[in-house]
Amino acid sequence: MYPILTVGSVAFDSIKTPFGEVSRVVGGAATYFSVAASFFTGIRLVAVVGDDFSNEQMQVFEGRRIDLAGLQHVSGETFRWKGEYSSDLNIRETIYTHLNVFDQFRPILPESYRPTPFVFLANIHPRLQCEVLDQVAAPRFVAADTMNYWIDGTPEELREVLSRVDALVINDEEARQLSGEANLVKAARAIQQMGPSMLVIKRGEHGVLVTREDGFFALPALPLEGVADPTGAGDTFAGGFMGYLAAAGEVTDTTVTKGIVAGSVLASFAVEDFGLNRLVQLTPELLRERFAEFRRLTYFDAL
Ligand code: AMP
Repeated sequence: MYPILTVGSVAFDSIKTPFGEVSRVVGGAATYFSVAASFFTGIRLVAVVGDDFSNEQMQVFEGRRIDLAGLQHVSGETFRWKGEYSSDLNIRETIYTHLNVFDQFRPILPESYRPTPFVFLANIHPRLQCEVLDQVAAPRFVAADTMNYWIDGTPEELREVLSRVDALVINDEEARQLSGEANLVKAARAIQQMGPSMLVIKRGEHGVLVTREDGFFALPALPLEGVADPTGAGDTFAGGFMGYLAAAGEVTDTTVTKGIVAGSVLASFAVEDFGLNRLVQLTPELLRERFAEFRRLTYFDAL
């Protein structure tokens, strides 16, 4: 079992969906990722929060295998993001993104973080993703996430990240945007040319498509009646996926397949309530039950 080093946003989110609205709740890509991945292995978190992030808000990390030596507290305001979803939850509009303390943030890894073999560059400025990667001694498997904000705003820095990672976890619209290809398979092949040999394309309620050098793997999402808030589903998925891989200690066809199921299990819970509410209540028993549901969903006999 190996730990995972991650860098990404820790945030205050405001979210509006057809099922309700919350304001200034703890969120952020690295938060969702860390909470999800910590069900499988230890996490080393690199991020920054402002002096408005109180002890009460820190509780989301407590009692979990999340090392906070690399979480800086500085004066200023924590990263803030607001999103609003359409009636079928498939379209999201970003109302604002305030980088705040991330604007001046320079990550310096604690010495104890440097030898971490599994690295996940969660969603944040690609320059910060590179600065963190520069400080890792000999990474064995590096995956990254990004979003339209960085694809549009910092394309060159993002290209550098892509040239340095083994896997990219990205949603379907962003894969099309990044590659300029409407067809997802062509989009995946074009992005593979930019660096990552594996692409994990998140397709929301339609599941996940993995493209590797020599083939595909796909998994549907669990059909759910009670979806309340899709925020963080992608980061949670990435947490389950990477957490499983790092716990297994190797990246093979088998561990990638099971990792995709693990990520889908975690994401299926995350969307059932607002923010991190559902994730922080999960137990290994609940995860095992849903793993079995995925098996029933996808099992069929040979012809
Ligand atoms: P997802 O729903 O997986 O796209 O992730 C939503 C999370 O990403 C929210 O908790 C936000 O705080 C965070 N987020 C939104 N925009 C950005 C951005 N430009 N950079 C980093 N994190 C972001």
